[in-house]
Amino acid sequence: MHEYSMAQEIVQVALAHCQEKKIRAIYLRIGALSGIAWESLQLYLNLILEEKNLDFVQVFETEIPPSFQCQCGQSYISSWTEGCPYCGSFQRTIQEGLDCQIESIEIEETSSS
Ligand SMILES: [Zn+2]
Repeated sequence: MHEYSMAQEIVQVALAHCQEKKIRAIYLRIGALSGIAWESLQLYLNLILEEKNLDFVQVFETEIPPSFQCQCGQSYISSWTEGCPYCGSFQRTIQEGLDCQIESIEIEETSSS
């Protein structure tokens, strides 16, 4: 149910951001190592948006690939199961890919006539 509470939070943040205006789209960045199942998150987002009569809002997701800093000094982008391409080591720190963030929220332009 981690994805459900996350979806609720995303919608809340989006609504707080746009105030009275209409949201058109929400852009998310999801870390490949965040453990978030995008399919479930999307499902819950759609449910929550529908409940709030916001089912016209589109949600887009970009995956943040995992990037590591190796003990040998190199940084690299790789999958969790592969070591450093330079020295083969798994002694590394994660630089990116753990977070899930709202990248931007698209709001309908209201004509000021
Ligand atoms: Zn290395």
